Amino acid sequence: MALNSFFHNKIESLELEIIERNSKLRRLEAQRNDYNSRVRLLREELGLLQQPGSYVGEVVKVMGSKRVLVKVHPEGKYGSSGPGHRRYIKANSGETCDSAFGYLPIREDATELGRLTHYLYGEDGANVDPLVSLMMVEKVPDSTYDMIGGLDQQIKEIKEVIELGLKHPELFESLGIAQPKGVLLYGPPGTGKTLLARAVAHHTDCRFIRVSGSELVQKYIGEGSRMVRELFVMAREHAPSIIFMDEIDSIGSSRVEGSSGGDSEVQRTMLELLNQLDGFEPTKNIKVIMATNRLDILDPALLRPGRIDRKIEFPPPTVEARADILRIHSRSMNLTRGIDLKKIAEKMNGCSGAELKGVCTEAGMYALRERRIHVTQEDFDLATAKVLNKHDDKEMSLSKLWK
Ligand code: ATP
Repeated sequence: MALNSFFHNKIESLELEIIERNSKLRRLEAQRNDYNSRVRLLREELGLLQQPGSYVGEVVKVMGSKRVLVKVHPEGKYGSSGPGHRRYIKANSGETCDSAFGYLPIREDATELGRLTHYLYGEDGANVDPLVSLMMVEKVPDSTYDMIGGLDQQIKEIKEVIELGLKHPELFESLGIAQPKGVLLYGPPGTGKTLLARAVAHHTDCRFIRVSGSELVQKYIGEGSRMVRELFVMAREHAPSIIFMDEIDSIGSSRVEGSSGGDSEVQRTMLELLNQLDGFEPTKNIKVIMATNRLDILDPALLRPGRIDRKIEFPPPTVEARADILRIHSRSMNLTRGIDLKKIAEKMNGCSGAELKGVCTEAGMYALRERRIHVTQEDFDLATAKVLNKHDDKEMSLSKLWK
């Protein structure tokens, strides 16, 4: 009897051990699978790391039907067979390169020639500089005129200069006068210059190419002017298009006699811009819109007739305009009844459109903080106080500066 129960216990404990070991086995198997997949991932990553790096090159010239001359930046120029053939051939001589010395190793499918140099992954059809292609290009922006508050006069003027020329060129032809090439928008920051330019592009179905003057100021000699040239090439390729040049004062400020070094590079860029403005035909469906906060320091050469001879001022918004802008930006907000936007607009004397937009966002944030789903007059009051405070701070520091 005792023997029986002893064996019984023994069997039970062994069964328990079996269960335990089985679960351990399963755990180890899961761990093994996990490690295996990690090894696979690391192998793939290692494979990618071991592949030769790629360069972004620029196709400089097509040399015959199968060869193109490619400029790879730090290393100079290489010839390459076209993308269909995917083999690189040494540049200047136009001969097949027979030495891989100092060049990147070629991939398996090129073993036939054994010692080739580069491998062409594909060619970007556009013949523009990669630097320029990084600029902001919007197919057709989504801003519209009814998203702009209180700039009726400015909208009318810009329509006359840009829209009329693009939509009805025959009017200018029949009158025998040249179309305006572009327009300069000037006024304090945040008054809606960029917004209006985008809206024009929207209503005229134009490609919107946006570049900032400071981006055109480059470190190396000749780069800035090359970018300006390429910019116009790109605009021609994408026509109808609008080139929007923001902060134009950074390259277009009055030329100072006897300046040297970096300044002369800025001047060169500016001269190229003038050259391009003279060179392009307004009938080619390209318009230039420039924007600045500093009209006073702009070079008069830029604004002479035949170049950008139209100017549109963007003053700080009036009370009605401010109420309009508040209405536009609070249109999609969930407001409680009876909010007096006019009163808020009256309080925000001297504020820009961007600041008014800020008030709406800020009011929304106050509601969000209290987990409410609608915005009240009180939220607006707090937001106005906050934005006005900042405004005062700015004026204070300016007045301190001038003391
Ligand atoms: P900057 O000179 O600094 O480039 P800007 O004049 O180009 O400024 P925008 O970028 O057009 O200013 O305006 C900033 C924001 O302010 C816009 O996104 C827009 O929502 C708002 N805003 C400015 N003016 C108006 C306006 N008149 N109506 C509606 N929104 C406006």
